[in-house]
Amino acid sequence: MPYKVSVISEGYSKETKEKYMIANCTCTVVQGDVNMVVDTLSPSDASIILAGLDRLLLKPEDIQYCIGTHGHTDHIGNLNLFPHATHIVGHIISENNKYWTHPFDIGKDYVIDQDVTIIPTPGHTLSCITVAVNTPDLGMVAIAGDLFEREDDIGNPLLWQTAGSESLQKQLENRFKIINMADHIIPGHGPMFKVLPEYKESLKFQLEQGLFT
Ligand SMILES: [Zn+2]
Repeated sequence: MPYKVSVISEGYSKETKEKYMIANCTCTVVQGDVNMVVDTLSPSDASIILAGLDRLLLKPEDIQYCIGTHGHTDHIGNLNLFPHATHIVGHIISENNKYWTHPFDIGKDYVIDQDVTIIPTPGHTLSCITVAVNTPDLGMVAIAGDLFEREDDIGNPLLWQTAGSESLQKQLENRFKIINMADHIIPGHGPMFKVLPEYKESLKFQLEQGLFT
């Protein structure tokens, strides 16, 4: 069955004058031979996810994989809506009380089927992952978590660099890798965007320039 990718809640992030940011992640549902939820919002948002699934005529028990692109609270707040799913959060996979580590750290992808692959994309955290889905309508969609903060961070790298990065260099390299694989990117804190040729040029230039020039 061909895959379909739907953003059920668009993420955002804003600085404030206080010590905190205002933020929530983008939550995405993948439907096809396997159904997945990628990034489950903040702990107060169960009703948003349930309503989003309902619009797609899905129930929580229809979801086989529940993915957290990384272990920050705004991306893993509702894992317990999916007690029967396989959970993948960063490099750790779990089913009920069974836990194991996939070797993402040595660059090994986790292949779900011919159209869905989970790719290690360290940077924002060292265990960040990206879900890559082949779709008939949008081409390759990369659900990239905070590897990309939002579309504007292509032209304004300070947006992702100041959002927190455990390895700026790795993040720079993986942003370049994903922009060259994907037709559309779903960033951690903004709407899905189409990859334009100038975005590839821009990230090539940024990689060649390096971080501190
Ligand atoms: Zn985030």
